[in-house]
Amino acid sequence: MERDFEGKVVIVTGAAGGIGAAASRSFAARGAKVIVADIAAVDETTTAITDAGGECAACRVDVAENPSVEAMVQLALDTYGRLDAAFNNAGISHKLASLHEADVDEWQRVIAINLSGAFLCLRAEIAAFVAQGTGGAIVCTSSGAGIVAAPMQAAYTAAKHGVLGLVKVAAQEYARQSIRVNAVLPGPTDTPMLRASMRDNPFLEQIIPRSTPTGVLATPESVAEAAVWLCSDAAGAVSGASLVVDGGALCR
Ligand code: NAD
Repeated sequence: MERDFEGKVVIVTGAAGGIGAAASRSFAARGAKVIVADIAAVDETTTAITDAGGECAACRVDVAENPSVEAMVQLALDTYGRLDAAFNNAGISHKLASLHEADVDEWQRVIAINLSGAFLCLRAEIAAFVAQGTGGAIVCTSSGAGIVAAPMQAAYTAAKHGVLGLVKVAAQEYARQSIRVNAVLPGPTDTPMLRASMRDNPFLEQIIPRSTPTGVLATPESVAEAAVWLCSDAAGAVSGASLVVDGGALCR
């Protein structure tokens, strides 16, 4: 594997499993020092990285809480002395419900984690880049539900649309400081989140694979690689972009 992140420090949130764990392993295999951050235990991810000879530090973070997010960025600076890139990927799904029956507390929790969480991470990471004066790259995880409606998922759809707005604003505001900000929009991907949704709503097990032209779910690794590329110098001219990684599902 190319060591194109040698000497770089990268934060990944939602790194305990799924797409974030795959991205953490890939960044580390490419030479990055990775802050492996999640609200859940990240031992499986950190063990996989160190067993493969990579370097990382575990971080317990709640992306919905600003002090926790600021402490995550500070951990990168204290441990490795700098920050070069971040993959703001933590997110949750929610119970399917018609909008008029949606649970208000659940709406607030999803917005707090999926939208405000992206804002808080961008805010703290960009502040570190600006103070360093070195530029940097950030990728936020949106979703196909960031550009089309996911029926019965008002909060998730609104939050993922909002993430794209934040990404565009940040890309515009910080372009002159060599800070690139992009979004990755996964389609149905075989992760613990999607497996749990299909377990809770068995009809989804029929519908979701059929929603992709190939009939198969994406692997977490295939989505992670798109995010890793967007963070790499190879994507140096890409900013404010929404990269759909769904095997062609949305373009039908
Ligand atoms: P996942 O459940 O495996 O990973 C999400 C991670 O986020 C978990 O490890 C979880 O502990 C963490 N997390 C949740 N709340 C947090 C918080 N408050 N602070 C810090 N970490 C928190 O699921 P995944 O599918 O890998 O999801 C990654 C991202 O991809 C999410 O943003 C999700 O919305 C998005 N996404 C997934 C799919 C899919 O089909 N799997 C499709 C589109 C978008």
